[in-house]
Amino acid sequence: LDCTYKIERLKMLTAILNQELSIMELEQKIHNEVQNQLEKNQKEYYIKEQIKALENELSEGDEEEGTNDLDKYKKQIEKLILNPKSKEKLLKEVKRLSRLPFGSQEGSVVRSYLDTVLELPWTTKTKDKLDIKKAEKVLNHDHYGLEKIKQRILEILAVHKITNNANSQILCLVGPPGVGKTSVGESIARAMGRKYVRISLGGVRDEAEIRGHRKTYLGSMPGRIIAAVASAGVNNPLILLDEVDKMGADIKGDPASALLEVLDPEQNKDFKDNFIEVPFDLSNVLFITTANTTDTIQKPLLDRMDIIELSSYTSNEKFHIATEYLVPKQLKKHGLTKLQLKFSDDAIRYMITDYTREAGVRSLERLIAKICRKTDKAILEGTKKTAITLKNITDFLGSPIYKDDDISKAPQIGVANGLAFTTVGGEILTIEVNSMEGTGKFELTGSLGDVMKESCKAAMSYIRSKRAEFGIREDFYKDTDIHIHFPEGAVPKDGPSAGITIALCIISELLHIPIRSDIAMTGEITIRGRVLPIGGLKEKTMAAYKHGLRTVIVPKANESDLEDIDSEVQNALTFIFAKTMEDVIKNGLTMPIGTQKDADFIVPEGKKQRKINIRQ
Ligand code: ADP
Repeated sequence: LDCTYKIERLKMLTAILNQELSIMELEQKIHNEVQNQLEKNQKEYYIKEQIKALENELSEGDEEEGTNDLDKYKKQIEKLILNPKSKEKLLKEVKRLSRLPFGSQEGSVVRSYLDTVLELPWTTKTKDKLDIKKAEKVLNHDHYGLEKIKQRILEILAVHKITNNANSQILCLVGPPGVGKTSVGESIARAMGRKYVRISLGGVRDEAEIRGHRKTYLGSMPGRIIAAVASAGVNNPLILLDEVDKMGADIKGDPASALLEVLDPEQNKDFKDNFIEVPFDLSNVLFITTANTTDTIQKPLLDRMDIIELSSYTSNEKFHIATEYLVPKQLKKHGLTKLQLKFSDDAIRYMITDYTREAGVRSLERLIAKICRKTDKAILEGTKKTAITLKNITDFLGSPIYKDDDISKAPQIGVANGLAFTTVGGEILTIEVNSMEGTGKFELTGSLGDVMKESCKAAMSYIRSKRAEFGIREDFYKDTDIHIHFPEGAVPKDGPSAGITIALCIISELLHIPIRSDIAMTGEITIRGRVLPIGGLKEKTMAAYKHGLRTVIVPKANESDLEDIDSEVQNALTFIFAKTMEDVIKNGLTMPIGTQKDADFIVPEGKKQRKINIRQ
């Protein structure tokens, strides 16, 4: 019994011990957890306090910086030589900034405004070094030929020096691409010792591009003119406004009228950019503009301009420009010496005639640069010297692009070489006429403008009125469809100067007499067959010359323009001056009217019978 009791007691005691133990375990667990939580809270509190302290320190610094900034702005504004009204306006902006919380969006707009305005060269300028002799040297050093242009520029600079008036009349250099307009502008800046900035106006349609955006918008900026002045860092740079003829207009305002304000000496003393808001004096800036044509420049702008025309170069001029200017320039640019890369004269001439077809020398320069690049690579691969000749030029440039001239060598019926004057220089415009049995329709294709369509009608009226003299069937206009086509249909064409060419093509087609293929012509036609003068004779005759055509029919009234034509072209061409369409017919057809064998339209007067021959 005693033993059983003892066992029971031991069991009880063990149970109590186990219970105690688990209680202790629990207590320890709770203690640990409390301890952990306490430590965690303490840590958190400590970090939060640290952050607070840092934030306090930072904001104290900001305030200090903010007030420093405001003072700095104020001091800078006080220092500026500005009219009191403008200063007041700028100080007002500083005041506004002081009221705005630091780091706010509005605050940063005002800050960037003040920074831009204060960085403008309000009083900084370069000193003009206008020595006419030196200027002439610079112009000659940079450009071949262009004698008349250089003389005009020197005269303008002389006037500028004597009157000290930068912008009485704005110089506008007009000509096809690549004839040196931009680089002449750059040379003028160099000759005068002025900083040079170029602004391209091609495709600018929004007035704000000239006059800037209001600063209310985040990211708004001054217009291109003020930006150009800022980038020059002086208030009297030479700003070249490139491609004024390619500026457009849309609902966002007319940039041309803003430009007029920029160029007008009466107004540009106080030019107001929308972003800058305070007037900036642009009267010290020398503006020069360039354009491909004056046709699309707005009249009020054009009135303010002094036009200097640069025209296409002859192959000979291109050769000199290439050998004396472009090759040395590109060699230097590509780190090459004359010993490392040589061009034979024949190779240069071949590049001009067979690889390029342009008024200027831009593509030619690109080709020279291409050869220089390849030579650079060859040098790194171990070649010491390269000589470009007719033999190896295709290795560098590939096959010639303009080998097969599209101008027909054989006389054709109903096809004639007209001469057109475009923004990229003169061009040969081949006109084709076809006739077919039909109902007297008169079809015109090739993107023709209204004036050109009227020329076609005038030519047709003239031919119908002279029908009997030419021996054309009486009712040809009732049963024959006539189609006049100008190739390169995607290119819009307009102007009256194709008149005589159209008339000759129709006559040739109706009479089956071929037109001379070695001849090109230009002239407006009236309905009574008079030939009226045309424009762009210089560029047109240059185009004829470049395409190997050696006779041109031009209006008699243009005879006085002959002196403008390059002497090289003048000597090479035979000019036929036409007063009436009869002169054109006499010289343009390969045989006199009435002598052709294939005379399907020639029938004795009075007879109605029609003979249709199949042309061989
Ligand atoms: P544009 O402004 O008329 O389109 P650029 O001024 O850009 O033409 O001329 C194209 C390139 O041809 C430039 O490198 C320029 O120096 C060169 N160039 C044009 N004409 C001449 C010239 N008469 N003499 C020397 N280099 C010329």
